[in-house]
Order: sequence, then C-alpha cells, then structure tokens
Amino acid sequence: MNPPTETSPQPCDLLVHGSHVVTMNAGRDVIRHGAVAVRGTEIVAVGKTDELRRRFAPAREVGGGHHVVTPGLVNTHIHVTGEPLTRGYVPDDTPFVENVFEWLCPLYSVYDAAEERTSAQLAAVEMLRSGTTTFLEAGTIRFLDEVVDGLVQTGIRARVGQWVWDLPPEPGVYRQTTDQAIAHLAEQLDRHRSHAGGRVAAWSILVGHTTCSDPLWRAAKALADQHGVGLSFHMSPAQLDPDGFIAEFGQRPMVHLAELGVLDRNVAMTHVVRIDEQELGLIAASGASVVHCPTTALKVSYGVTQVGRFPEMVQRGINVSIGTDGNNASNYSDLMRATYLVAGLFKDARTDPQMFPAETALEMATLGGARTMLLDQQIGSLEVGKRADLVVHDTDRPEWRPLLNVVNQLVWSADGRSVDTVVVDGAVVVEHGHCTTVDEERLWADAQRMGESITARSGLPDRAKFPTW
Ligand SMILES: [Zn+2]
Repeated sequence: MNPPTETSPQPCDLLVHGSHVVTMNAGRDVIRHGAVAVRGTEIVAVGKTDELRRRFAPAREVGGGHHVVTPGLVNTHIHVTGEPLTRGYVPDDTPFVENVFEWLCPLYSVYDAAEERTSAQLAAVEMLRSGTTTFLEAGTIRFLDEVVDGLVQTGIRARVGQWVWDLPPEPGVYRQTTDQAIAHLAEQLDRHRSHAGGRVAAWSILVGHTTCSDPLWRAAKALADQHGVGLSFHMSPAQLDPDGFIAEFGQRPMVHLAELGVLDRNVAMTHVVRIDEQELGLIAASGASVVHCPTTALKVSYGVTQVGRFPEMVQRGINVSIGTDGNNASNYSDLMRATYLVAGLFKDARTDPQMFPAETALEMATLGGARTMLLDQQIGSLEVGKRADLVVHDTDRPEWRPLLNVVNQLVWSADGRSVDTVVVDGAVVVEHGHCTTVDEERLWADAQRMGESITARSGLPDRAKFPTW
C-alpha cells in the first residue's frame, strides 16, 4: 500500500481530538494537540491533530481545544442487577452479615425480568456517562437474556453471566443443585457466546465466597477454559470466607482453590482483602487477577486499609484492577471516583506517599481492567489496531483548571461529571454528557417507579433516620 500523500486524505469515520490525548500505550505517551482516527470499530491512527487532518478526511469530528481524550475505563466488578434499582435503601450502618442476608439477598430476589433489564440499563448509562466503556458483571441474579438485551441496546462493552451457587445459605428463589448449577453455566455460555460483534458475551460467573461445592468450582473453571473466557467470583472481603473454608476444608480459600486447579490467568477474584502471605504467593504464581473495590471496603467496613495487601499484590506483579461493586455497598458506579480512592487509601494507611501514584491508579482503571477481562489486546489503550473505545472530557470546568498535569488531574481532580463524549466500538454513545442510545427521561422515570415497587414488595422497612414528610 502506498503511503498517503497530502493530496489524498483517506476516508475515516471519526476524528477524536483534544488538547491532550492520554494514550496509555507502552511508552505512556501523552500527545499535546493530539487526535485519534477511527474507521469502523477500530483505531487507525493516533498522533498530532494537524498530521491526522492531513492524512484523513473524517466523516465526523469530536472533541476540540479544551478536551482531554483517554481510553475508555474498565470497571471489573459491578452488580448491574439486584442493586441499581434499590440504590441507597440499605442503611449504611448494618453489619456485614445483616447487610448481605437480611437486606441484599431479599432485595435481589424481588426483581422481575423487566426490572432487571432496566436495572442493567441504568447501570450501563451511569457507567458510560462517567467514562466507563467496558465492565465485568458481578453476576446477573435471574434474567440474563433480558439483561443482555438491555445492555446491547446501550452500546456498552460487557462480559456477563447469571451467577450460580450450590451451597447454603441460599434464598429459595435461586436454589439449585450442583448439576443444575453446572448445566446452567454451560447453557448460558453457549447461548451468549457473542452479541453485537463480540461487544457483549458471557463469562463463567459464580457468587463465590463459601457458596460453591468442589465439583462446581472445578466445572466452572473447566467451562471457562473450554469457551476461552474468564471465571469470576467474590472471595474473602471479610473473615467469614477464610473461617468458612478452614471449617469446611481445613485450608484457607486460596490454598483450597489452588489445589482444585481453579487459580489461573483467566480468573478474576473480587475483594481478596483477608489473605495471608501464603495466599498472596499462590495468587502471584497463578497469574490470576484481583479486583479492588475500595468504596465497598469503606462502606461495609472490610478493614482494607488495615489488613489489605494491595500494595504487596502490585509489588509481586499481581494484576489488580478496579470495581465499583453494588449500589448499596458502593452507591455510585463512577470508576473515576473509585480510582481516586485507590490512589489515596494506601498512601494514608502506610503513611507512604509513594503508594499507588496517580499513574499506577490510572493504569489499573484502564490496562489493568483490560488484562483482568482478557481483553488487553483489544482495549485499555489508544493504539492502532485496538477497538475504538474513547472518552472525551470537557475541561472548561472549575475542577479541571488550570490543567498542568493531566494524569494528576484525571485521578485527583476530575470525576465522571466532565465526560462529554464517549465512543465504544467506534460508535458515539454519549454526546454532550447524555447517553444517545436510550431514552434517558424514560429511564429515570422507570427506575424511580420500579425502585419504589421493589422496595415495597420486599417488605423491608424504610430505615431513613430523618423524618421525611
Ligand atoms: Zn460484588
């Protein structure tokens, strides 16, 4: 192919440009007055805006002189069902066991199919509008087909799965035997192999904790391997999991999972707060990824700053990415706010300002998330050949001025409110801060109506402490 000349600009679909393009490429280049050219779903060039304008004749331009362009963020643990439509109903002073079993599980079991679909869309719109283009689901509660349908419409990139478990405690609404659980996993991996050109697809997703028998653990890993996808589950946010594994198997969770052959590079474990030195070594040796949900740790009192080993994980080469979890444990889904906490928590906990520099936190929110989701060849940075998942911040806002150090600004000053435009797979899905793929007004109204209905049907009391009249 001949190199393009000044007189023959190539057609492209989109030119996204800004005062800064934060590429997150191997050299971590930040390009002043830079641009990204997109054709179809793919990035075809990254460089100076002037140069790309000479090389390309875009059908559309996005961004401008007061905009910062970044890769789409990757949220690697979020409950898109069960939580978004009951956000904030659970009081913030309930102990862990009461929180999970007396509040969350009953609320999860009330949603119907239409409510789960709307719940997933509300979560996706909140993520897209705050700069997250890809997420790993914590596990659909009951109606995966409707959730997939709703997510495909929003334009977000996702790996999803209806969670299974086969040990008590289990609310009756999703009770299942080991054979049923395994059959269910296999069936959903087949049915949701790929939607929207691979944008939405199923993973092998377990609840985790102490809810799985050994045959279910082994089968979930084997199914993930057979389908070339990942396996995701919760583990050890609180002392309950190590205590439960020791009581049942005489081993701590990571030791037992390693013996079962579950720990591996295609595994994403969420929380992982209560681990010992041996478990840290097992995770490092396995290549498994860990998802840090700092907001949940803060709100549900996991003790992450006291006993969490996230600095040691990073030092040992474990891939750590970031999640926002459920909307009653972490009431927002703006990954930028969670990234801020990742950068700050251990600076204070270890009285060491060198813990989690802003650059490391941003890597975790982009490249780290892509690695957790086994998508590091496709997303996480702005490079030729990768999928066109981009976020454009409008920096004509007080928290962005003056703009002197763009990475510091992204992590420490900005949040999702400055997101102006979002592109996923080359398609503009957020424009001037609004999601273009769904009817937002209708979504707000549906979410309110459904949230009031779900909480009423749950029979759980309204525990708001201030008199409301
Ligand atoms: Zn979770």
